[in-house]
Amino acid sequence: MPKVVTRFAPSPTGFLHIGGARTALYNWLFARHHGGDFLLRIEDTDRKRSTEPAITAILKGMKWLELDWDGDAISQFERAGRHKEVAEELLAEGKAYRCFATPEELTAAREAARERGENFRGDLWRDRDPKEAPEGTPYSIRIRMPRQGETTITDEVQGAVTVQNSELDDMILLRSDGTPTYMLAVVVDDHDMGITHIIRGDDHLNNAFRQYQVYAAMGWHIPTFAHIPLIHGPDGKKLSKRHGALGVDAYEEMGFLPEAMRNYLLRLGWSHGDDEIISTDEAITWFDLEHVGRSPARFDFDKLDSLNAHYLRTMDAKSLLSSIKFALEDHIGRALDSVEEARLLKALPSLAERAKRLPDLTESASLFCNTRPLSLTDNAAKQLTEDIIPTLAGLADELEAVTDWEPTVIKAAIMSFAEAKDLKLGKVMQPVRAAVTGGKPSGDLVETLAILGQAETIGRLRDRVAA
Ligand code: GLU
Repeated sequence: MPKVVTRFAPSPTGFLHIGGARTALYNWLFARHHGGDFLLRIEDTDRKRSTEPAITAILKGMKWLELDWDGDAISQFERAGRHKEVAEELLAEGKAYRCFATPEELTAAREAARERGENFRGDLWRDRDPKEAPEGTPYSIRIRMPRQGETTITDEVQGAVTVQNSELDDMILLRSDGTPTYMLAVVVDDHDMGITHIIRGDDHLNNAFRQYQVYAAMGWHIPTFAHIPLIHGPDGKKLSKRHGALGVDAYEEMGFLPEAMRNYLLRLGWSHGDDEIISTDEAITWFDLEHVGRSPARFDFDKLDSLNAHYLRTMDAKSLLSSIKFALEDHIGRALDSVEEARLLKALPSLAERAKRLPDLTESASLFCNTRPLSLTDNAAKQLTEDIIPTLAGLADELEAVTDWEPTVIKAAIMSFAEAKDLKLGKVMQPVRAAVTGGKPSGDLVETLAILGQAETIGRLRDRVAA
């Protein structure tokens, strides 16, 4: 097989949405699996709808997902000259023709075809002599579609799909203002870029038959097509914003990790036995088009959450810290100091056990920052009643005397204090947790105190006494 070359070809009319991200991922994986190239082409031919912020958002989303492309991103618009050249070549060979019809004539012909119950083929000038048009009449260039026979595409996902050629219209290749249509530009670019496999959403399957005829007319090699079923919402309906049809940036903001996102998008339409957790390396080794499902996948936030929780658990303390540092500093309104960082490096792995998304982790990590006096949740405030204050004051004194701030020693000190005061251990632990965490989700209490350090722990207890 020649070197595999795939591409992702987004139209920059909005953010990189979840379906686009999955298409990009499949193309990336297929290229990486075969040791080929993965190219990025920005389909900015539609000047009215393409925007610079959308291009930026797409590139940013790709980078966040760590889907690196080979070479520079290509602008389709900048290749307009080449598209025109191909249209003119087809014209010169008689495989395309000039259409002088006015918009009004076309509308009338479309209407008439509809009334006759026929497909509109835009072929008003297919058999007319261009000399019949007055000098200087603007014209578009249309492809001369075959009328006989049928076209079959053997799609890697959909199987063999056939249309009757009589159903294909003589589509415009070059508009009367000299600009290429999308249908022409895609084919010329895919050919010139040496694309061997076109993997994209099955909303493009109908276009594939029309594009096929452009390749055929030029005598170009026809790439392999793989049209992937679209993503649906959990209710089986077309994916809407409510379901999660958001930009990739929204998932980043919600606190999902790129590796979890890749794993999730991979499984959303492709399978490897019963495997749910698939690392990117495994995905590169295993990815193929054969196991792309034929029916639409359903988007499911719970699955994404559980994958994200899994990847959070596998991260080491340093990576966990760097993934929340920015948000945490934003939360406390200043940079972390070295004491806080050292505490976090100790605490994060066990905090990550209970987090689903990064904001959960940021929230529980903030407990280890010096933010005295802590603000209390309602629940914590309820536990810190007047009568418990002397207990906290007494325990603070007891802890002050501890010389070796280790979990076992801390625990022994609390136990002996409870015993001396004739209190059940829980009666002491509960308010201590409320005073020291302010009611934030926390793990093992003694472990938390050990990581917080002696001075901070006692300080937090005394804050409640003074309050
Ligand atoms: N630009 C098209 C889109 O964003 C994709 C074209 C293609 O993949 O062939 O839907």
